Amino acid sequence: MPMSESFHKRLSPILDTIAQNFGTPFHIYDETGIIETCQALKQVFSAREGFKEFFAVKALPNPAVMNIMKEQGFGFDCSSGPEIMLAASIGSRGDDIMFTSNNTSRQEFETAMEADAVINLDDISLIDKMPRMPELICFRYNPGDRRRGNKIIGNPVESKYGVSHAQIKDAYRMARDRGARRFGMHTMLASNELDWRYMAETTAMLLSMVEETADALNIEFEFINIGGGLGIPYRPGQEPMDINSLAGRCCELLDRFENKRGWAPLLFMENGRYMTGPHGVLAARVINHKNIYRKYVGLDASMSSLMRPGMYGAYHHMHIHGKENFHPQETVDVTGSLCENIDKFAIQRTLPVTKEGDIVVIHDTGAHGHAMGFNYNAQLRPKELLLKTNGTVELIRREETPDDYFATLHFDKNTLVLP
Ligand SMILES: *Cc1c(COP(=O)(O)O)cnc(C)c1O
Repeated sequence: MPMSESFHKRLSPILDTIAQNFGTPFHIYDETGIIETCQALKQVFSAREGFKEFFAVKALPNPAVMNIMKEQGFGFDCSSGPEIMLAASIGSRGDDIMFTSNNTSRQEFETAMEADAVINLDDISLIDKMPRMPELICFRYNPGDRRRGNKIIGNPVESKYGVSHAQIKDAYRMARDRGARRFGMHTMLASNELDWRYMAETTAMLLSMVEETADALNIEFEFINIGGGLGIPYRPGQEPMDINSLAGRCCELLDRFENKRGWAPLLFMENGRYMTGPHGVLAARVINHKNIYRKYVGLDASMSSLMRPGMYGAYHHMHIHGKENFHPQETVDVTGSLCENIDKFAIQRTLPVTKEGDIVVIHDTGAHGHAMGFNYNAQLRPKELLLKTNGTVELIRREETPDDYFATLHFDKNTLVLP
């Protein structure tokens, strides 16, 4: 099921009070659920010492939530200068930050090196664009037509990411020749993947590349990072990712590698969606009903709060607060107010009949939700709240105001007068 029963049970009795106090719309995240998921992930991989998750910051770039991850011993997967600054702002640095960028600028390398982050290079041409070769270096491997990808990330052959199969050994050779002494190998091939076998195959693929490269260059690898991409069930009835089977298989592959070679790389992951996705919802009020060729339910939130339905045609389950088992029902489109017809949270969805003021709870917005929002049409982004384990609710990001929107327009005059 989308949105866990336990989060639903924690949130339902207090949702009206939260909405009255803070005002709608808002994303609210469930600290208890996030901690439980962190602990479950650590537990299933505990057979391999040194297993580590680097939370993909882009999924939910909020220091309050990142702190929960940090307390669980997680690092952070950052892909831009400001994401590194976010991780650094809560005291993470060094081996706790993986910098996985692409089309990287020199400025970003400098920010990453100042934070002493682990550099994961996306291309062979970037080797000589770094200010210097760090001691520890990682490359992102793109297997091309050796693997299929999926809808969100695309097919590996068409994807802009990573070092090709033909280049990968040369990349490590060049890095070694320039002074690198410690090595990791990374890949990220799929997102929202629900089949554990796909992720296990990724582990097998990286281990085989590590083995070939280690033999060719006479080096050892400190870690493999199999990327993020673990999926979550957005639709009722979908089976969740079987992380027990995944971990079992990955640990077996690593044990076998170790028995054969006398050493094995550590296993790293960098999930975003899996860690926080199901532990967030977007709560918005019904403000209008419209009845033309279709029936529309208009909310006080728009796609500036949640892009996934408009961007990917993604399904987000939803319920009407307090009307979970309510009849009669009707089939409606649930919309925001943006001047784009893709600004719909649900299309032809059968839901209980609503009245103005009802709260619609849109599930699974804890990853790639608020973070993906934008300001097109001068739509402002909503606030973020955290339901803490002690039952209190904390404002962890305020809503944007028109002043924020104007902040980049009101500044000292700067004119270039051409000759
Ligand atoms: C987006 C991204 C992730 C996280 O993806 P999820 O599907 O949220 O787990 C991890 N690594 C890289 C390099 C990414 O770009």
